[in-house]
Amino acid sequence: MTVVAIANQKGGVGKTTTAISLSAALAEKGQRILLLDLDPQANATSGIGIEPDSEGSMYYPLLGDATIQEKIVPTRLENLSIVPSGMDLAGVEIELARRDDHLTALRQLLNELKEQASYDYVILDTPPSLGVLMTSALAAADEILIPLQCEWFGLEGLAKIVHVIEQIRESGAAPELKLEGILMTMFDGRTNLSRQVVEEVSNYFPEQLYENVIPRTIRIGEAPSHGITIFEHDPTGSGARSYRAVAEEFLIRHSFVGEPIA
Ligand code: ADP
Ligand code: MG
Repeated sequence: MTVVAIANQKGGVGKTTTAISLSAALAEKGQRILLLDLDPQANATSGIGIEPDSEGSMYYPLLGDATIQEKIVPTRLENLSIVPSGMDLAGVEIELARRDDHLTALRQLLNELKEQASYDYVILDTPPSLGVLMTSALAAADEILIPLQCEWFGLEGLAKIVHVIEQIRESGAAPELKLEGILMTMFDGRTNLSRQVVEEVSNYFPEQLYENVIPRTIRIGEAPSHGITIFEHDPTGSGARSYRAVAEEFLIRHSFVGEPIA
């Protein structure tokens, strides 16, 4: 079981869309996926067609009063389960911050889940801030996947999150934490800007940058309002094709992890 946090402290960059779409695409390929919604705004929860639920969120598990297992609910998609979010998660920030174990609370919960070997990947959707929820998600992850909007301001944010990843590593909470990838989102092929931003990122992060980019499409933007994935909303469109390609790229990258070098 590998824990992947979809993270970027900026809002509106495609984190939730990527968390939902990557989860659904991996599930479609037979991977057993748990999507964990850690954003109090619950966009991943409603986007996949589930009612946000305060009682059912990570609130109690994070404070040591429940297990993750109790909060897992199935989605209508095969191989894809979710721990929903609800408004109460906003309050967990303050309560967690008071505790000494706030950085490792989620990691410990996920370690228990790891022992059961019920999932291949746990995908964490994170809130758009560098608060306690976000840092505990980073510290709980094996890998970080950063969605990055094809805009110049996105690059400033990238430097910041890379710095935070280093800080988490150095804190000792997650010394092996890896920057798995950077996924360019909302790519607009008609503008030079999109291409320039992709090129800039590939100069600094040639290994991490995903070859596939996610185009800006109306269909991707529409899907969450219907509570369905892009694969249901527009199965053969460019949005669905690009997220499927990203899932394939993700799996190819992961099949090499840990293999002995001959
Ligand atoms: P975040 O979780 O980082 O705040 P979201 O995934 O919620 O970002 O995306 C922000 C908004 O942009 C949402 O309304 C979403 O539907 C829309 N969106 C995300 N990706 C795309 C895309 N590739 N094309 C068009 N709209 C998109
Ligand atoms: Mg979001």
